[in-house]
Amino acid sequence: MSDDRLDANDAVCATSPRLVIEIISLFPEVFTSFLQASLLGKAIASGLIAVERTNPRDFSPGRHRQVDDSPYGGGPGMVLRPDSVAAAIDDAENRRGRAHRLLLSPSGRLFDQKCAADLAARKRIMLICGRYEGVDERIAQLYADQSVSIGDYVLAGGEVAAAVIIEATARLVPGVLGCGESVVEESFSAGRLEFPQWTRPPIFRELGVPEVLLSGNHAEVARWRRREALRRTLLYRPNLIDRYPLTEEERAMLAELEGTA
Ligand code: SAM
Repeated sequence: MSDDRLDANDAVCATSPRLVIEIISLFPEVFTSFLQASLLGKAIASGLIAVERTNPRDFSPGRHRQVDDSPYGGGPGMVLRPDSVAAAIDDAENRRGRAHRLLLSPSGRLFDQKCAADLAARKRIMLICGRYEGVDERIAQLYADQSVSIGDYVLAGGEVAAAVIIEATARLVPGVLGCGESVVEESFSAGRLEFPQWTRPPIFRELGVPEVLLSGNHAEVARWRRREALRRTLLYRPNLIDRYPLTEEERAMLAELEGTA
């Protein structure tokens, strides 16, 4: 496993990106507009994040640039050959250095906010996108530091999965978001979903805003939000409560929510 995590004393100079993202993909053009838009586009334009794309087809050994072949043992579809994928990885790393390599696969470990935070603390990550029936297993055996899935469904290729991982990771890189606060109090950061939010106008289609949010009492607002975050988590993602047990305060809130206090 690569050990490329930033440590606290790592000086980040203005000319070197804080995070380099290597993408190995047969369809690098899929990322073009995604990498130019909004916060990610700004982070790339300012040099805070760098994204490099390498296409295994450019390293195909055959005259016809074929990158896939039929599976040994038979069966439908085609499998990405290991030689062109390996050559693309080697070329990217020979130019820019060893990255923490993630193979996108529905069979991988489920990607979550903790995983995004781990990746955001690294200097160099690589996202290897599969296509067709997947990638020859020897890439997982010889190259991948980990296999990652973005959910229990099957996409046609790893590009959209890579985009999800890039966006979730990049916004955690210090300096990418305008306000450092915004990643602290949001869904999953403390094992809870985020509390609901309202903005102007105060009445919209006869629906108002909870009184407490208009009270100006910051302590009350903060407690109400923690309670609503708990309510939502219990309703939509009770599995998070098993992973991040209730605090003393939350036990009291749970009793309130159940109407027993
Ligand atoms: N035959 C494979 C299976 O059943 O597990 C599915 C291959 S899928 C059609 C082609 C590629 O899309 C995969 O190699 C992977 O890179 C990507 N992919 C599909 N679903 C994904 C998911 N949920 N998470 C991450 N990558 C995914």
